[in-house]
Amino acid sequence: MQTAGRIKPPMTADNGWWWEQAAQQVLAIQRCTSCETLRHPPRPMCNRCRSLQWDFIAASGRGTLASYTVLEHPQFPGYQYPIAIALVELEEGERITAQLVGIEPDDITFGMPLQVSFQADPDGFVLPVFEPAEEN
Ligand SMILES: [Zn+2]
Repeated sequence: MQTAGRIKPPMTADNGWWWEQAAQQVLAIQRCTSCETLRHPPRPMCNRCRSLQWDFIAASGRGTLASYTVLEHPQFPGYQYPIAIALVELEEGERITAQLVGIEPDDITFGMPLQVSFQADPDGFVLPVFEPAEEN
């Protein structure tokens, strides 16, 4: 029997490009080409100068844990619980929410260094997740 897969994020004209980058293992951050302000999640207009012109940069994938939550319920088919969801402060300054993997919920600490990893589902869907970074 085929098990249920991950619920796919909605992909629109405004954010589909971001998922295309993720599929190539690039963690993209949208950038206004008028004032160079970074923004995430993707959206059409710069909230600083209202320009509609943008490109993006590839983030380093490094950041720190700003906040997190651990999902226990409700449990949807196709996921393994508990699921830790992190709010990551990227070193570029933007914040992103993503699943935190490779660590038990009890071991999570605020401010811990994280790095992006790209998790491919059996159906080929690629999802950026974060895991504890190697300490230097
Ligand atoms: Zn701008």
